[in-house]
Parts: sequence; C-alpha cells; structure tokens
Amino acid sequence: MVDALTVVLYGLIVICMLVVLPLLYEMILTVAAALGGGHLRHSQRSLRIARLLDRVSDYSERGIQAMVLGMIFGPIYVHYQEVAPLFADYAGEHDSTTHIVLVHLLPSVWINANMLYNFYRACKDSPGLPDDDRECAQQCAHCRKPKPPGTHHCGTCNQCVVDLDHHCPFTANCVGRGNYRSFFLFVFYSWIATVYAFWLSVTSHALCHEGRSELVCNQWRLRIYYLSMLAVVALTAFLALMVYLTLVGRSFRTFMAGSRSDIYPNERPWNRLQLRLGPWRLWWKYLIPALGDRNTIAGGLRAI
Ligand SMILES: [Zn+2]
Ligand SMILES: [Zn+2]
Repeated sequence: MVDALTVVLYGLIVICMLVVLPLLYEMILTVAAALGGGHLRHSQRSLRIARLLDRVSDYSERGIQAMVLGMIFGPIYVHYQEVAPLFADYAGEHDSTTHIVLVHLLPSVWINANMLYNFYRACKDSPGLPDDDRECAQQCAHCRKPKPPGTHHCGTCNQCVVDLDHHCPFTANCVGRGNYRSFFLFVFYSWIATVYAFWLSVTSHALCHEGRSELVCNQWRLRIYYLSMLAVVALTAFLALMVYLTLVGRSFRTFMAGSRSDIYPNERPWNRLQLRLGPWRLWWKYLIPALGDRNTIAGGLRAI
C-alpha cells in the first residue's frame, strides 16, 4: 500500500525534473558545442524543443514554489514537534526554559523570518526591467523593446531584464539587478538554516545514541540527520558558487552556457559584491528582515 507521503514525494520529483528540463537541454547543447556541434543550438528543431521544454517548465514552476514553501515549513514543524521536545526533555530541571529560548526559539524565529521574507521578495520584486522610454540603439530580437547594455532576454518570462543572472524555477521569477540581493539572502539564510538544523540533528542524534534521553531514537531522527547533512553540502556549494560568480563578474546564466559575462566587467571584485548586495556598511541591516529596505542597492550604487 503506497502512502500519501510517498505519492507527494514522487510527484515533487517529477515536477523538479520537468522544471530542470530546459537547463539539462542547455547543458547538452553546451557539451555538443564543445564537441563540435555548435550549429545544433540554432537549428529550427532545437529552438522548437527548447520552446516546448520552456512551456512545460513554466507550468511546473508553481508546483516548485509550493515545494519550496513546504521545504521551509516542513523543517519548522519538525523542529518544534520533534527536536525541541527532545532538548527540553534532556535539559530537564536545569534551566530548560532559558535553554529552549536561547537555543531553539530565538535562533529559529530569526532564521525563519529572514528566509521567508527574502523568499517573498525574490518572488515578488521586479528583477529590474529596462526603461521603455529610454533612447537606445539596440533592440531585443525577441520582445522588440529597447535593450540597453547589460540587458538580457528571459525566454521563460518573455521579458528583458537588466543584469539577468538566471531565471529561477524555485521563485518562478527572473533574478536580475532588482532582486539579486533578496535571492542571495534567501540562499544565505537557507544555508544558515541547514547548518543550524545539522548542528541540532548531530546533537540530538548523539543524545539518542548515548541513551541520555527518554525519547526513542525513531527512524525519522536518523533521516533528518542525513537530510540536513546533504542540505548543508548542497547549499554550501551553491552559496560558494554565487559568491565566486559575483566576485568574478559572471552570471549563473553565462556560467551554465559556458560564455563570458558582462556584469560590472570593469569593477574590482569587492566593488562587484557591493554593487549587487549593497554597500558593506549596510550589511548589518540584513540581520533584521524589516531593515533590508529596497533603497539599499540604489544607496550602494551612489556610494561607490
Ligand atoms: Zn527582450
Ligand atoms: Zn524569467
């Protein structure tokens, strides 16, 4: 008998595969080009396949968005339902309330608030569309709108975006100059959350093994341990890649396509980081979601 959780998990795997199809196809074309098949990318059949995969991916993105919310709220539920009671049980009569507040309540509220706020902003904020009225010599071949330098067309959203980094299936939005900082902070706080979850799972795992807790070591506790370990590895790699690409002035889009980027090409690495994330002297604001106001980027552009 297949339970509901298994059906949901398999459904999500299928949706994920549908969403990443255009990306896989792009990678295949890049490998083909490296092997001498550069003409394949521009053939009519190839363009038709890419359009079809884009459309399928587009519909699947809403499912992915729901999955991301599930991936945020799922661990929050597990944290308060499973992990926190274990620690409360272990702490026993020795200042358990202080322990719970300092180790579980305050850090988790702070991390979750930042994760949700930045995810919302990355989904809802405009990625930075070029000014329609602007006098511009170049025109986009796809949407026929003015295309200032540094602007690229997103095939999924059918719009031009300033400093397009990539189209993100997880936020169902482009990541560009307007919302790069929110996207970066969403990934950053997701990474903090996985490190925090891993630290808690290692500790609770050890408590179970040593028999220092009266709660049983059920199979879910072991799964959380391995899942959080995998999440730490994956998100550390992705965050490191984002920082590296920002420092060298490349976008995720051009990194995947194997071509050179033009995001602030004449700036120094430290300036590129500030131009995309805001001036470093305001980074303390990212600790409190409500203070990370949308003028920070504009302030950063004026400041350096
Ligand atoms: Zn365009
Ligand atoms: Zn897009």
